Amino acid sequence: MSASSQTPVIPIKSSSEPPHIIAPDAASVFSRRAARFEQLADGHSLGDWLRFLGAISRAQHAALQSLPALDLPDSAQMKFAREHRMPPLPAQSWPRPVIWREVLRAIATAIEPVAAEPARKDLARLKAFDAEAVEALAERVLHTELYGDEAALLPYVAAALQVLWTGAAARLGVAEIVALDVPGVCPCCGFLPVASVIRTVGEVSNLRYLHCALCNTEWNLVRLKCSACDVTDGVTYCALQDESGKENDAIRAETCESCKSYLKIAYAEKAAVDPVADDLATLALEILVDEAGYSRSGPNLLLVPGG
Ligand SMILES: [Zn+2]
Ligand SMILES: [Zn+2]
Repeated sequence: MSASSQTPVIPIKSSSEPPHIIAPDAASVFSRRAARFEQLADGHSLGDWLRFLGAISRAQHAALQSLPALDLPDSAQMKFAREHRMPPLPAQSWPRPVIWREVLRAIATAIEPVAAEPARKDLARLKAFDAEAVEALAERVLHTELYGDEAALLPYVAAALQVLWTGAAARLGVAEIVALDVPGVCPCCGFLPVASVIRTVGEVSNLRYLHCALCNTEWNLVRLKCSACDVTDGVTYCALQDESGKENDAIRAETCESCKSYLKIAYAEKAAVDPVADDLATLALEILVDEAGYSRSGPNLLLVPGG
């Protein structure tokens, strides 16, 4: 390759260097998601479902705004996590404050009036569960065991856990969180990404961030690299087309020949994308890639697998 055909490498001044990790914005993450669900629902064959997911996101926003003080890791625990390159709020072992069950009740109460009959029955059943049963559902979500009995209840449980972890991640901030050795898991909670987003941060465009399915933290990963197995060869992209053959350029699936996994990639420079909402509005792309033999490398917790 001649020098003239190479992409020019522009040195980044330290003052404008993009952040490696971006904490969730508690004031807007769920309200923006709700707005995106509502926008995507218009004219969509799954519009009613997407609008309902928008209502869940609105309820998450309200619950997060009134989330009380949380018992967060102290400076010694943060130091230990940093030194051992461990996430400070690990999904599977952080002693989650029981307030999350009140968040779950608040979300269920808020969405009941707009729920369709099957969802209303699910919510009534969930509200009748005792604490032990609800905690058992939380364990399934946090261990990504999303199939099996009562799988239809898991998205509501996940919605409440997302509020808790997002609130904790936002309050912890990113200053004391370090990148992990494993690039494909969240440096804040160790959970998997729901999708990646290409965005402009400061003056730098075309940056890729993986977006945590649980705590909404984002972390940088170079483009054209599989987030699941770290290889760069054999990464390709697949997009949906509308009836006129126009490609959906707001979201594509990034597939990897090496580990046969995929994750969607949303382009914030093309539309007001939200990784969770845009992912669920493109289930057709999911089916296409699944049928081609790839399996998803990170979950969308608002989706009931096979539901
Ligand atoms: Zn996370
Ligand atoms: Zn791979």
